[in-house]
Amino acid sequence: MTQEVINMEHKIEVVEIRDYLTCFYWGRHPEDPMLDMRLGGGTYALHKNGRAIVIDSMTRPGQGTWVREYLERTHQITHFTLVSSHWHVDHIIDNHAYADSVIIGHKHTRDMMLKKKAVFEAGEYSDYDAFKVEPPNLVFEGRLDLWLGDLKVELHEYKVHEAGHLGVLLPDEKIFIANDILEDPLWFFDFGFASAETQLNELERLKNQEIDFIFPCHCSIDKIKKGGFSKKLIEANINYLKKMMAHAADPDFDTMTGKTILQDELDSGVIEWWEPYTEVHEFNKKELLRHV
Ligand SMILES: [Zn+2]
Repeated sequence: MTQEVINMEHKIEVVEIRDYLTCFYWGRHPEDPMLDMRLGGGTYALHKNGRAIVIDSMTRPGQGTWVREYLERTHQITHFTLVSSHWHVDHIIDNHAYADSVIIGHKHTRDMMLKKKAVFEAGEYSDYDAFKVEPPNLVFEGRLDLWLGDLKVELHEYKVHEAGHLGVLLPDEKIFIANDILEDPLWFFDFGFASAETQLNELERLKNQEIDFIFPCHCSIDKIKKGGFSKKLIEANINYLKKMMAHAADPDFDTMTGKTILQDELDSGVIEWWEPYTEVHEFNKKELLRHV
């Protein structure tokens, strides 16, 4: 084990959400050179009777291995399935740790990982470390149902944030693992693959699902410890895009802060401000103006 991996261990906090559902959180580090480490986030694993479905492999090399070894050691897991929610690097960097397993993902996720393989493996993509690419070896589009023992696990594609993005719905307990479809306090726009209107419609479609508990990738660990978010998070993310669209033509749009746009949602306590998201908000303003 390298020193780098040992350092990673100290950055992963484990939260037992249910006896079959665990969160692995990489922490919020406002001074870290990597944006994903500043924003903070984590991943989730479902586990039962020696088998696990791990959702995403985290944001630094070694973290996926750490999660796998933790589950082997503490839950006697011997059989793993990995689900890659989308191709963004903070979700797929350690897929290699599951190279012997079924890795499920959207067709687009596999295509993008292969397309960017050389850049990823050379460590030349954004601020991420170099990593060995291991794309999904079982792909689908739309909807796929899995069972972990008697636990039904539904993978749903939503055209939000990135093409081929998967959310994980556990219909029995109405739990939704959102990955990057929803974020606290605001989400990352990309309107290159689907219009803002399409993405709003997709969020409305999500709101119509029977969901009581939401667990996103990027949020504070306190929210996870307190049992996740209600559907109000979907509403807050919808409102963010609607308000951004409504203000896009205002003369002061360029100086409008995320805090100002989301004042009502922040006051209500549904979401909470986290300063590194200023950077995401500034990116979002430019992305929106490129596409309106
Ligand atoms: Zn993403």
